[in-house]
Amino acid sequence: MGVIEQPARIARPEPIIAPDLCDGCGLCVKACPTGALALAGSLAVVTHPAACNYSGYCERICPRQALTRPFQIVVAPNIDRRIE
Ligand code: SF4
Repeated sequence: MGVIEQPARIARPEPIIAPDLCDGCGLCVKACPTGALALAGSLAVVTHPAACNYSGYCERICPRQALTRPFQIVVAPNIDRRIE
């Protein structure tokens, strides 16, 4: 059987909050199941990026579309899928 190489582990991106759109309503902070977000004055910030599990609750609940989760496409290296 061929060897399947695993792609190198890449750090997960974190949610991006647009400061010009966020009004500090706090809905995303309340919706986050892992406590990754907090309010800093009138702006939401990702205070614990390692806690973020990318659930997407924050993105869906934001009434101003201020919060987005970037995704990264990783192209696998040549994978030998032959069955011997
Ligand atoms: S839900 Fe949206 S507008 Fe409200 S604090 Fe979070 S990012 Fe800002």
